[in-house]
Amino acid sequence: MYATPVNDYPRTADVERPEPAGAERAALEARIRELLKAQDAVLVAHYYVEDALQALAESSGGYVSDSLDMARFGHEHPASTLIVAGVRFMGETAKILNPEKRVLMPELEATCSLDLGCPIDRFAAFCDQHPDRTVVVYANTSAAVKARADWMVTSSCAADIVAHLRDQGQKILWAPDKHLGAYIKEQTGADMLLWDGACIVHEEFKGAELEALRREHPRAKVLAHPESPASVVAQADVVGSTSRMVQAVRDMDADEFIVATDRGIFHKMRQLAPGKRLIEAPTAGKSATCRSCAHCPWMAMNSLTALLHALETGAGEIHVDPVIGARARIPIERMLDFTRRQKLQTAGDA
Ligand code: SF4
Repeated sequence: MYATPVNDYPRTADVERPEPAGAERAALEARIRELLKAQDAVLVAHYYVEDALQALAESSGGYVSDSLDMARFGHEHPASTLIVAGVRFMGETAKILNPEKRVLMPELEATCSLDLGCPIDRFAAFCDQHPDRTVVVYANTSAAVKARADWMVTSSCAADIVAHLRDQGQKILWAPDKHLGAYIKEQTGADMLLWDGACIVHEEFKGAELEALRREHPRAKVLAHPESPASVVAQADVVGSTSRMVQAVRDMDADEFIVATDRGIFHKMRQLAPGKRLIEAPTAGKSATCRSCAHCPWMAMNSLTALLHALETGAGEIHVDPVIGARARIPIERMLDFTRRQKLQTAGDA
């Protein structure tokens, strides 16, 4: 199975750029606000991007969330330009759902190891070999891969959608994250054939070192994103999407948390639960490569400076082939309809 060698990926430390401080920073932010207004643009940011971008999104009428809610917010917001601070598949999803809107990203080179590790030609051949299976792809894929799928899911809704398909007797072809796929397979008991992809950030978390850290902090609750290896997920008190992890820090009766996901999420967790202690799950230890050290190199490419450049020049505009976009929209809308119905049902039951 295809996999891009890990050494081909950038190191976070090599792509991070210092942002201006003090008066220069204030002027930069003021200029961005002006341009957002002048261009009828709204800023939607992922939990993993730098604190300053998250703060600016919220204070300028935009939004900070996981990829499911980013897609939903961008789709429902009336602005004619969406600025997506995140990685490329998020910008593409926004464009697919809103072909009439202009979608800009601070950095077009910001991609994802899951997307890179699932090229359309090999993926289509894999699907062709298994025509009896329903194709379910994670959001972290290209528009072309989504266009080959029956369903798109995010980590917030993957288990519910797969359980729904299992109940209909469907067998599933899952791509691209093998750790998330294995977790969903175990949770649902569905018949799932998995693509061999991984997130380079979550794959660095180490089970043995986590055990040692838990011994040092016996009262800490462990939160893990299901893109992490099984040895990490098995030790978690809460396994879930980034939004689920944020809620857990806010709502759980604990004051210490070990967090196995990108450390960019600490910004939102601190905002919602300022008195609680957050500890990074270990990425070092035996066989560690620590290319990311719990911060995605592609998410780290987003910055205030890059955002200003995108607004001033129009660079970073996302284009999706209209034919591919129209086909890719089907599995995305299926997911959005499913989660919308589920929300209504939960509200009705309550
Ligand atoms: S954190 Fe992992 S899954 Fe998320 S964008 Fe980076 S490489 Fe992709």
